[in-house]
Amino acid sequence: MPELPEVEGVVRSLSPAASGRTIRDITVSDTIIRSKSEAKEAILKNSSPEEFAEKMRGMTIMDVTRRSKYIYFHLEKNGERHLLVSHLGMSGAWFAVNDIDEVKEEKFRRHIHVIFRMEDGGLLAYADIRRFGELRLIGEESDHPPLLAMAPEPFDESAAGHFLSLSRTPKYAGKPIKETIMDGKVISGCGNIYATEALFRTGIHPGRKTGRISMARLERLFDEIRQVLGEAIEAGGSSISDYRNINGEAGGMQDRLRMYGRKNCPGCGAETKRMTIAGRTSVYCPKCQH
Ligand SMILES: [Zn+2]
Repeated sequence: MPELPEVEGVVRSLSPAASGRTIRDITVSDTIIRSKSEAKEAILKNSSPEEFAEKMRGMTIMDVTRRSKYIYFHLEKNGERHLLVSHLGMSGAWFAVNDIDEVKEEKFRRHIHVIFRMEDGGLLAYADIRRFGELRLIGEESDHPPLLAMAPEPFDESAAGHFLSLSRTPKYAGKPIKETIMDGKVISGCGNIYATEALFRTGIHPGRKTGRISMARLERLFDEIRQVLGEAIEAGGSSISDYRNINGEAGGMQDRLRMYGRKNCPGCGAETKRMTIAGRTSVYCPKCQH
C-alpha cells in the first residue's frame, strides 16, 4: 500500500505534469459504471459517472499537492474552486501520457478506470488494479470531515506534540504502539512499512502498550519516524507491491529497509517474529525490540 513517501513521489512528478492544464473530456471505465449501477462505489465516490464527467469537464488543474496519503488536485472552473481528492488505495497509479499505449506495464494499462483528456490532447489516466482507491470531487476540505480529522503533517512543527499528547489519552494509552503510530489521526502517513522500520530502529516492541513507553522513548520514536519517512522520500519511495510514480518508475527504498519483510535481524542475526496488530502483520526482532 502506498504510504506518505510514495504519495509524495507521485505528487512531485504529477504536479509539474498536470498543473495549468484544462480537462476537455472524461472517460470512466465500464467497471466503474457497472459498480455504480449495482449501488457499489468502486473508486468514484459521492457522484455518478455522468455527474463526475459533467463537473470535471472544463476544470483547470491549478496545482497538485499532498496531504497525508491523499493527493489533492486544486481545480478551478468559471472562477469557482474545487478539490479532487485522490487516494491510491492498495495499487492506484496516475500516468501522464499522450496515448494509453505509453503506459508500459500491462497490469496497469488493463486497469485504467478514469481518463482525463486535456485541451492540449494529452491524457491523465488513473489505473487501479485492485480498485481500493478513491476519487472524490468536493468544494473544499471541510466538505469531507475525515480530511479535517487527520493529524498534522509529520514534518510540521506541531506534529510531535500532537503525537505525544494523544499517546497519554485513554483512547491510545492501552493500544499497542504500532497501532497508535499507524492511526492517521495520531500521525499522518505512517503505514505498516515505515512503522515497522521506526520501531526496529528505536528498539521498541510493536506490541508494547503506548502508555507504558516513556516520553523520552516516544520522542525518539517520533524523530525516527520522521527520519525514515524523509529517507524514503529521498529514495523515491518503496516499490513494494504496486507503487509507480507517473513515469511508471518504482522507488529504491525497499533495499534500505532493515526489518520489513526480513527473516533475520540485521542487528543480532536472530530469526524475526511476526504478530498481527490491527489486522496487519508486524515483523520484529524478539531480542532487539522490547
Ligand atoms: Zn535483533
